[in-house]
Amino acid sequence: MERTLSLIKPDGVEKNLIGEVIKRFQDHDIKIVAMKMLHLNRKQAEGFYAVHREKPFFNSLTDFMTSGPIVALVLEGDRVIELNRKLMGATDYTKAEEGTIRRDFASSIEQNVVHGSDAPETAAFEIGYFFNSFEIVG
Ligand code: GDP
Repeated sequence: MERTLSLIKPDGVEKNLIGEVIKRFQDHDIKIVAMKMLHLNRKQAEGFYAVHREKPFFNSLTDFMTSGPIVALVLEGDRVIELNRKLMGATDYTKAEEGTIRRDFASSIEQNVVHGSDAPETAAFEIGYFFNSFEIVG
């Protein structure tokens, strides 16, 4: 069993996609073991995306991530890191496979509805960034 962090980004919340995204997880037997809604401040968004701080889109990305509420979830399942990335689709929604969340709902390379950890090490860091052990069930 593996765990991963998922975020429904401000554009996903704004477009009323919380239920749709969760349905896709549950349709694929992914278990939700933690969930909360929150509104990141700048410091929190910068810390989360620290690996991207040298990128030209860093300021724009942190502006976007602080622009409205998000939903953070911890997902659990067999190879769930890879499965979640598959359900999300490519970062650039124009290159994402049909039927993926980003292909169906993203509006730009930045406003792409969801985040998902990309490896076990990043999943561990990102889950710990949003949740303490008492907030994760099971
Ligand atoms: P992810 O793992 O698929 O989310 O992609 P990355 O880790 O490469 O990038 C993190 C996030 O930064 C993406 O999900 C986008 O929201 C944003 N992003 C990535 N590339 C670009 C870009 O070229 N321009 C802008 N404006 N945002 C980007």
